[in-house]
Amino acid sequence: MNSRSTLAALTTAALTTLAIPASAFDLGSAAGILQNVNPTHIIDNAKKLGGMSQEEEIALGQKLAANLLGAVPLSKSKSRQRYVNRVGRWLAMQTERPDLPWTFGVLDSDSINAFAVPGGYVFVTEGLLRTMHSESELAGVLAHEISHVVQKHHLKALQKSAGLGLLTEVAVASVDNGNKRMAVDKVVNAGTELYARGLDKGDEYAADRAGVVVAARAGYEPYGLVAVLQTLEQLGGGDSRLSLLFKTHPAPQDRLKRLEQTMDGHLDTYAGQAQLDARLRKYLGKG
Ligand SMILES: [Zn+2]
Repeated sequence: MNSRSTLAALTTAALTTLAIPASAFDLGSAAGILQNVNPTHIIDNAKKLGGMSQEEEIALGQKLAANLLGAVPLSKSKSRQRYVNRVGRWLAMQTERPDLPWTFGVLDSDSINAFAVPGGYVFVTEGLLRTMHSESELAGVLAHEISHVVQKHHLKALQKSAGLGLLTEVAVASVDNGNKRMAVDKVVNAGTELYARGLDKGDEYAADRAGVVVAARAGYEPYGLVAVLQTLEQLGGGDSRLSLLFKTHPAPQDRLKRLEQTMDGHLDTYAGQAQLDARLRKYLGKG
C-alpha cells in the first residue's frame, strides 16, 4: 500500500469519530460465529475472473475457522467477546471491505497471539489481551489482522499451496458429501500448515502499515500497534507464550523499525486521538 496516498485519503476521511458511537456497540457476540454463513446458500459464481467470489471466500474461511477453533476454544466471557466484536467491527467499517460478515473471537488461551482467517474471521487470545493497556492497542492489533483479510493474504497463500480450483471446490462443498470430504481435508490441512508457518514477511509489514491507517481512520491514536510491538519486544523470544507468534511473524524490532520509517511524523496529526485505556480496563475487567 502506498502510505502517502493512504494518508491523503485519511485526511479526507471523516475523522469526526473521536470515540466509537453507541451504535457500534449494538452488535452481536462471537457466539454466532459458525452460524453466519450457510454454505447451501452460496451462489456458484466461481467463474468470476481473478479468483474466488466473496461468498466462496466466506464459506472457505468458515471451514478454516471451525478447524482452528477445534484446537483452541473461545473464551466463555460473553462481555469480552462483545467488546472485542464492537471494536473490531467499527474498525472493519473503515476498510475497503465493510460488507464482510466480520466476526471477532477471544480465544481461551494464555499464549500471546492473534490471527485472521479469510472471509472476515479474526481471533485474539486472552493472553494477548492481558498485555494491553488501552483500547487503541487492541484496535492496533485488530486492524493489523483485519488488513490481512482485506488484502487477502491468507487466501492468496492458500491459492498458491492448494490451488484455486481446489479452494473453490471446497468452498461450495458440503462436509457431508463423501466425494468432497478428501478435498476439504486437503485444504484444511493446507490451512493448518499455513497458520503454523505464517505468511510472507512482506505481508506482515503490509498489514502493519495498513492497520495503523485503519486505526487512525477509526478515530484511535495511531500508535496502539507500536505500543503492543514494544511490549512484545520487552517480553522477548524467551517467553514461551510468544513462541508461535515469534515463529510466524518478523521480529518486533524489525516491525517497529519499518513502521517508524512509514509513519515518520505523518500520523502526528492523529496522535491526540482516542486511547481509551479506562474503557479497555472496564470491559476486560482489569485493574
Ligand atoms: Zn500478521
